[in-house]
Amino acid sequence: MKLWNHYHTPHTTDEAVHLLNEYAGQARIVAGGTDLLVDARAEIVHQPHEALIDITHIPELQNIREDGDMIYIGAGVTHTSIVKSQAIAASATCLVESCGVVGGPQVRNVATLGGNVAHALPAGDGTTSLVALDAEVEIFYQGQRKWLPICDVFLGPGRSLLETGRDLLLGFRFKKSGPGEATAFKRIMRPQGVALPIMGCAVWVKLDAASATYAAARISVAPVGPKPTLASEVEAELVGKPANGDTIETVAAFAQTVLHPRTSKYRATEDYRSEMITVLLRRTLTLATERARTGTAVPEGVGV
Ligand SMILES: Cc1cc2nc3c(=O)[nH]c(=O)nc-3n(C[C@H](O)[C@H](O)[C@H](O)COP(=O)(O)OP(=O)(O)OC[C@H]3O[C@@H](n4cnc5c(N)ncnc54)[C@H](O)[C@@H]3O)c2cc1C
Repeated sequence: MKLWNHYHTPHTTDEAVHLLNEYAGQARIVAGGTDLLVDARAEIVHQPHEALIDITHIPELQNIREDGDMIYIGAGVTHTSIVKSQAIAASATCLVESCGVVGGPQVRNVATLGGNVAHALPAGDGTTSLVALDAEVEIFYQGQRKWLPICDVFLGPGRSLLETGRDLLLGFRFKKSGPGEATAFKRIMRPQGVALPIMGCAVWVKLDAASATYAAARISVAPVGPKPTLASEVEAELVGKPANGDTIETVAAFAQTVLHPRTSKYRATEDYRSEMITVLLRRTLTLATERARTGTAVPEGVGV
């Protein structure tokens, strides 16, 4: 079965853009191919893709870089590379925890963070943590480079601002967790794994100087809608409250009343997912609060 007619491996972003222009919308970007090739096999009824443009040979897209209090990750960085990064483990722990559970080792060794976001599924594990990190996304969009808040990139399930065959996702940047701040990610997944979780949850919390109350929070629970988003009502319920188990219990129970997951025939019922929101929030908020208080964070649940 032929899945494409031409395969290109550009070595610069300009070269990739030039190829996209040359194929006038008929080419597809490929990174790890773990989503694209599954889709291509399913879509192939009529004809193969005209061209695949492989972005994994572009050095600019393979970097993890620290710049002051920011971390930059190229779109072509694999989940395995993220899991191995000491900088990300220490100051954006939730991202290591989410990338560390994507598929199995073979998938993580080739699949990229850029592919996870470009596929635009509301439950993508890497995406869930990037939302809690308040990440920005650099894109080559309508002929120009620009940075956007991550949530602005998504239009609906499987649909992003990026026009297929025209635009390119270049990378991500977000602020490192500072003193009194920390993150955590947990998910509920069927043991046999059907690619996406039943529910995932990433949180970022900031405690006040005495570690007594929550000074700020970002909470990302997915999937609870057509596109990834912050649970702002739940965040508002947490901020200003004492940083303790009672608050976490109250907020985790409250989340169930304002977040409304759907039944998925492949994953779980609405009722089960709803219960899991409370379970996941209890776990992630407890962990992140402890990390923020102690100033140490060792990623949990990460595959090897
Ligand atoms: C067995 C298996 C298990 C999986 N388990 C999980 C899981 O547990 N959690 C999870 O979230 N996902 C999972 N996935 C899905 C997938 O592995 C991830 O979403 C992965 O991050 C996709 O990255 P990729 O590099 O392989 O993307 P690709 O397949 O190469 O690309 C995916 C899509 O994004 C586009 N694209 C890729 N890079 C760019 C770019 N830089 N600019 C513009 N467009 C781009 C492609 O054209 C394509 O449409 C699983 C997949 C498999 C096959």
